[in-house]
Amino acid sequence: MAVVNPVAAKPLAAAAIAQLEADGVVTLIGTVVNPAGLTHAKTVPLRRMGTFADPGLGASPVWHVFAIDQAGIVFGDAITPVGDQRVRIDLGALRILGDGLAWAPGCFYNEDGSPDPYCSRGALQRVADRLSDAGISAVVGHEMEFVLVGPDGSRLPSHLWAQYGLAGVLEFEGFVRDVTNAATASGVAIEQFHPEYGANQFEISLAPQPPVAAADALVLMRIIVGRVARQYGMRVSLSPVPFAGGVGSGAHQHFSLKRGDTPLFSDGTGSNGMAADGESAIAGLVAGLPEAQGVLAGSVVSSQRMQPGNWAGAYVCWGTENREASVRYLAGGPSNPYGANIEVKVIDPSANPYLATATILGLALDGIERKLPLGPETTVDPATLTEAQRRQAGIALLREKQSAALDALDKSSLMRTILGDAVVDSVVAVRRYEQKNYGDLSVQETADKFRLAWSV
Ligand code: GLU
Ligand code: MG
Repeated sequence: MAVVNPVAAKPLAAAAIAQLEADGVVTLIGTVVNPAGLTHAKTVPLRRMGTFADPGLGASPVWHVFAIDQAGIVFGDAITPVGDQRVRIDLGALRILGDGLAWAPGCFYNEDGSPDPYCSRGALQRVADRLSDAGISAVVGHEMEFVLVGPDGSRLPSHLWAQYGLAGVLEFEGFVRDVTNAATASGVAIEQFHPEYGANQFEISLAPQPPVAAADALVLMRIIVGRVARQYGMRVSLSPVPFAGGVGSGAHQHFSLKRGDTPLFSDGTGSNGMAADGESAIAGLVAGLPEAQGVLAGSVVSSQRMQPGNWAGAYVCWGTENREASVRYLAGGPSNPYGANIEVKVIDPSANPYLATATILGLALDGIERKLPLGPETTVDPATLTEAQRRQAGIALLREKQSAALDALDKSSLMRTILGDAVVDSVVAVRRYEQKNYGDLSVQETADKFRLAWSV
C-alpha cells in the first residue's frame, strides 16, 4: 500500500496529470472491494486525481457492510450512519483502461489520516508486512473463472462448446482478442486464457506478483473483462455457481514463499523437497481452512460449489497435483518455470480477493511460526477412500452449511489475529445477512438471484 506523502503528492500528481492528459485520460475510477466481495467505485475528473490520492474522497463506514442484494446495509454497534472515512487511491498502482478512463485501487483511511481497520487492502498489506518482518516474501497468482451471460443474466447459447474446446475460443474470438489486447494495454500480465469446463465459462490466469499488486491486478482484470463483455452485448457472472446444478467458478490462488532468495516449497530436505518452513506453511493452511472458509467461500451461493467432485477443494487435505485436495502442491522443475507453489482451490469469486490472500498467507505464517509438522499427503481422490480411511487420515469435508462456516469464523481467534476483529466482524455480518434473508431460498432461486451480484 503506497501511503501517499501529502507533501510529495501534489507535485507528483501534477506531473502525472499532465502525462495522463497527454494519454487521453479524462476520468479516473478508484475502486475498493468490500467484505461481501462487492467492488465499489468513485470517479473524478482527472484534475481531481491528487485529491483522490490524498486526502481522499469521503465514504461512509457503511460501505463495509453493503450486502449482495443491491440494497442491504448491515448496521451494527460499530457501523452506524454516523461517521465518515476517506478512500485514497494508490497512484503507484494506476493503470490506463482506454477510452478516456484510468483506474487505481483504493484504501480506506479515517478522517484523522490513520489507516482504517476495516480496509481489506490494508489488511492484506498488514499480513504481507508481518511476513516480511519474519524475513519471508510471497508472490501470488490469481485464477479468474467466469461465465459469459446475457445482459439480464440469461444463459447464452452454447451450441458449439466442448470442455476446454476450441469452439469456445472461436465462438467468442472477438471477446478473447479484445480482452487480451486491453490487458496488454493496461499492463496486466495474462498467463493463459481458455474456455473452461462449463458452457460459456472461461478462465484467465494472472502472473505471480507481490500480494497486494496481485489482488489489484485481479480487480483490474475484472474491470477489463466486464468492459469488453459489454461491447459484445454480454455480461460476466462472477457467481460461485452461476446456474444451479451447473459447473462452479473458482477463484483459486497460487502462492510461493521465499526466505531471502531461498524458496520454501523446493530446494529443501523435507517432503517433496520442501524446506521445513514450507512444510509448516502448508500444515498451517490445512489446519486453518475450516475456520477460514467463511472468508474464502462464505457467500450464500458458495456452499453449492463446495462439494466433492467439483475440484473446489472440499476435502481438507493436501496433495501433489491433487485437484480434489483443498491445498494442491505443484512441484517445481522444467515444466513449472515459476517453481514449486501452492494452490488454494477453496476460494471462490464471491470472496474479497484481498481478504482471501491475507487469510491464506496469514495461515501459512501461523504454521511457520508454530513450526507445525506436516501430515502425510493425500495421493488419491479422497472420495475414493472409505469414510473410515478418511477419518484415519484426518481428511474432513469443509462445512456444507453457510451458517456453520460463519460460526466457525466468528469464533476463530486465529482468524481474528490474522485479519483483525473489524474485518472478521464485517465479513460475518454481511454473510449472516445473506443467510438470514436468503438462506431459505431453493438452490435454483439462490443461483438465479445472485448470478450477477459480484459482476462489474
Ligand atoms: N471450476 C472449478 C471450481 O469451481 C475448478 C476447475 C479447475 O480446477 O480449474 O473451482
Ligand atoms: Mg480452472
